[in-house]
Amino acid sequence: MTNVDPAESVAARFAAVKARINTATTNCGRSSQEVALIAISKTHPASSIKNLIELGATDLGENRVREAEEKIPQVGQTNARWHLVGHLQANKARRALNLFDVIHSLDSSDLAQRLDRLCIQVGRQSLPLLIQVDLGHEETKTGINEQELPRLVETVQQLGRIELIGLMTLPPFFDNPEQARPYFRRLRELRDDLARNGAFGERKGELSMGMTHDFEVAIEEGATMVRIGTAIFGERNAGH
Ligand SMILES: *Cc1c(COP(=O)(O)O)cnc(C)c1O
Repeated sequence: MTNVDPAESVAARFAAVKARINTATTNCGRSSQEVALIAISKTHPASSIKNLIELGATDLGENRVREAEEKIPQVGQTNARWHLVGHLQANKARRALNLFDVIHSLDSSDLAQRLDRLCIQVGRQSLPLLIQVDLGHEETKTGINEQELPRLVETVQQLGRIELIGLMTLPPFFDNPEQARPYFRRLRELRDDLARNGAFGERKGELSMGMTHDFEVAIEEGATMVRIGTAIFGERNAGH
């Protein structure tokens, strides 16, 4: 019997995910350069993250500030771009600001104002962030309703240090990922509307959407950032 070296299987899975992104982009006439792969390392130890960075990963994502606070210093903050993809509570905003390069989960004007104030306090010139839009209206999910989006965008635009770079969503889980397509499509429409109104300046605006189960569909609908954990690191323990 042979034992599979876990590091080796991560290498194989990471390569397979990149190959699938290539295929998915090619199939819909896009370039794989347009899709950033964010490896979601929640629940996995710093050693696995370091291994993935050695394999070429540049973008890592965590969903909890407390966990990130333990792991990011072990991995080295400057060794990757760190993305916060989970809900951010107001009382953890300062700690998040110290850890993360990009925040995907802005969901209120209060949080926007707080983050901007904190940037001024700590002397951070710019914090790129995405607004998380709740399109599925599930009780367990966070994000703002699309009706509230214009007002939040307006708030962010009045603040000098935080910079809106795109939208993020987390659709409901469906056995068939095709069923997530309307959610991805809707997020793209919202992004396109905002872009027309100049919400992202000269840029088109990022679309952070697609996870292990549905990233190919998300890429077909225009994802520019996919957030993939399980397909790279393997299964997590329950509760995440
Ligand atoms: C855990 C998580 C992911 C990755 O999920 P997988 O199904 O393991 O790829 C992506 N986005 C968010 C917000 C997450 O919390």
